[in-house]
Amino acid sequence: MYQIIDGKKISQEIKDELKEKTAALKAQGKTFALAVIQVGDDPASSVYVRNKKRACEYIGIESVSYELPRETTEEELLRLVRELNEDPKIGGILVQLPLPEQISEDKVLLAISPEKDVDGFHPVNVGNLSIGRPGFISCTPAGVIQLLKRSGIQIEGKECVVLGRSNIVGKPMAMLLLRENATVTVCHSRTRNLKEITRRADILVAAVGKPRFIDADYIKEGAVVIDVGIHRNEDNKLCGDVDFDSVAPHTSAITPVPGGVGPMTIAMLMYNCVEGAGRNLD
Ligand code: NAP
Repeated sequence: MYQIIDGKKISQEIKDELKEKTAALKAQGKTFALAVIQVGDDPASSVYVRNKKRACEYIGIESVSYELPRETTEEELLRLVRELNEDPKIGGILVQLPLPEQISEDKVLLAISPEKDVDGFHPVNVGNLSIGRPGFISCTPAGVIQLLKRSGIQIEGKECVVLGRSNIVGKPMAMLLLRENATVTVCHSRTRNLKEITRRADILVAAVGKPRFIDADYIKEGAVVIDVGIHRNEDNKLCGDVDFDSVAPHTSAITPVPGGVGPMTIAMLMYNCVEGAGRNLD
């Protein structure tokens, strides 16, 4: 029988721990706010932003919203980011992606001070992760590590395969697993003999961005399978990169979609706000 890794429960545990830590920081007179910037009114972005603000409220962090019109110029957004970088009340800055096409995402992410980059996307934080120095870590892969650890799954010495090499999921995921002393292989669209490689995995992390791409043929018997993907299927229901029904019986543990990796991303964003931004107040 396989274990279903409960991301809802684990993310709630983390949020409750952070609530206590925030109260302790407040008792020491240390308060900080998260600045949340949204440009335009993309409905999916609005849902993400609302959920992030709700999580802040739950934990006791103030969030300051900037809802800018779609036609905002790059210079206007950069000016706001620079102002927030200088504002001592702001501990973290989050710019919701995607941005409208007249604004370079790269320029904006580079403009955020690495000390306030709670998404962990700034090259300084990416570099710190790769050389093992402290810094903000991309929330989704950080959430995967927490799911594994808090489910009692050993990472050290394991053969881990990460399917996907994006800057926000695949690459930081591989670095984090390496930091946990796993042996890591990263696969992508040019990988040959993909199934041969994924069938070696003790822990397989699927971040391929294709609905139900991974079926039982990709899995070693008894593997742990972490599904990062989020899609809507033909019936408008959420599904992942893994075909759960065919894969689960061959695993020892697996994350569902929804209720697996998804809730962890916001929990780890909150972790970055409290542990990182909170620490910068010392
Ligand atoms: P992405 O930028 O589209 O990257 C997908 C990766 O998969 C790329 O590295 C690509 O290879 C590789 N790939 C594509 N087709 C492949 C194939 N046939 N065989 C092998 N590799 C293949 O996606 P992402 O941003 O990393 O996100 C991945 C998934 O996670 C998406 O479903 C996304 O919605 C989801 N996601 C979830 C959360 C969450 O909070 N749970 C957060 C972020 C993302 P190349 O590099 O060669 O193109």
